[in-house]
Amino acid sequence: MYIILLGAPGAGKGTLAKMIEGKFDIPHLSTGDILRDNVNRKTSVGNQAKDYMDNGKLVPDDIMIQMVKGRVLEEDCKTGFVLDGFPRTIKQAEALRLIFNELDIKIDAIFNLEVSPKTIIERLSGRRTCRNCGAIYHIKNIPPKDEGKCDKCGDRLYQRDDDKKDVVKERLIVYKAQTKKIISYYEKQSSFCEIDANRKADEMFMEVCKSLGRKSRNG
Ligand code: AMP
Repeated sequence: MYIILLGAPGAGKGTLAKMIEGKFDIPHLSTGDILRDNVNRKTSVGNQAKDYMDNGKLVPDDIMIQMVKGRVLEEDCKTGFVLDGFPRTIKQAEALRLIFNELDIKIDAIFNLEVSPKTIIERLSGRRTCRNCGAIYHIKNIPPKDEGKCDKCGDRLYQRDDDKKDVVKERLIVYKAQTKKIISYYEKQSSFCEIDANRKADEMFMEVCKSLGRKSRNG
């Protein structure tokens, strides 16, 4: 199953993608996570991406497209994946279309997570992420059992630097100026589906599962 998640920062793409990964046994491909891993390991991609990420800007398309191309060719992507954070520009969407054509992949669903500015600020300011496994929490909505500790692996939770106020502002400007355009790129496709993302993650997930069930019945 091949799924694309669209939506502003804080819409809940990462949380939803992890739930989809668990239920449908397909890998969660988060370009943000892959980049953060590269930054931590100080790889050449990480060094090139760091400044853009720290300032809430988009990493150049060519770097992103190469990165995603490489990742989808890996063995664990053979039967599907859920893509989170890519594409973010029309150029990336076009490149993804070509990659899918080349690999003879048909997208099963594109979910656009619609969320209000108020929810975005509330989600991002309370988001905490596990340093080790990338699990996502929220200090109020999805608190870990032990404060500051990941339920899954026990490692420390941290607040992403780009979830701090000034960078969030810039990320939202970038989203409106560049990423929102890809909604019109996809919205006429039959696999496109709007999701009200102002709700709790499990409610969103239920709607996603229902929609996937309908899509598979309709072929
Ligand atoms: P995310 O974890 O998806 O919020 O991404 C964190 C940061 O990584 C973004 O603010 C960008 O700087 C960078 N990034 C992630 N995905 C992309 C992409 N598809 N295109 C350009 N930059 C990206």
